[in-house]
Amino acid sequence: MINKVLEQSRAVFCVDCGKCVAVCPMAEMYQDFSADISPRGIIQRALRQENILEDAGLWCCVGCNAGAQVCPEGVNCRELIKGLRNVAIQQNLNGKIQSCIRCGAMVTTLPVSDYIQKKLNREKIAYLNLCPACRQQVYMERNTLG
Ligand code: SF4
Ligand code: SF4
Repeated sequence: MINKVLEQSRAVFCVDCGKCVAVCPMAEMYQDFSADISPRGIIQRALRQENILEDAGLWCCVGCNAGAQVCPEGVNCRELIKGLRNVAIQQNLNGKIQSCIRCGAMVTTLPVSDYIQKKLNREKIAYLNLCPACRQQVYMERNTLG
């Protein structure tokens, strides 16, 4: 399954140039950002068939697509990481997911959610615990019942 993800995201064509790392926002988001969780690091480790699926760094990407836009080889780091996450979920290795408290759908990942909450400087932000569909539903219920 990982090989299919590597092919579909074109990760197999990665030349390890590092251009995606230079634009990846994770470097500013996470104090413990390292080569291992950078897009280049994840790509290279996946290509080497290392045990990437259980790696906490797999859940840090925010899906911005910046890396794909600068990649000279057309590698899409967002699609690669999304695909690897899907494989991890299928294998029940999905401990870093934040699910909607209303319907159970995936909202985001815990590292990304932590970052947003810290950035907004609040203890708890209720809407962050809901998927987009439930967010809309709760918003409409609150504004039509009141
Ligand atoms: S920019 Fe493309 S080729 Fe360069 S390291 Fe990133 S994925 Fe690989
Ligand atoms: S899609 Fe993910 S890995 Fe790629 S540049 Fe954006 S945050 Fe970094």
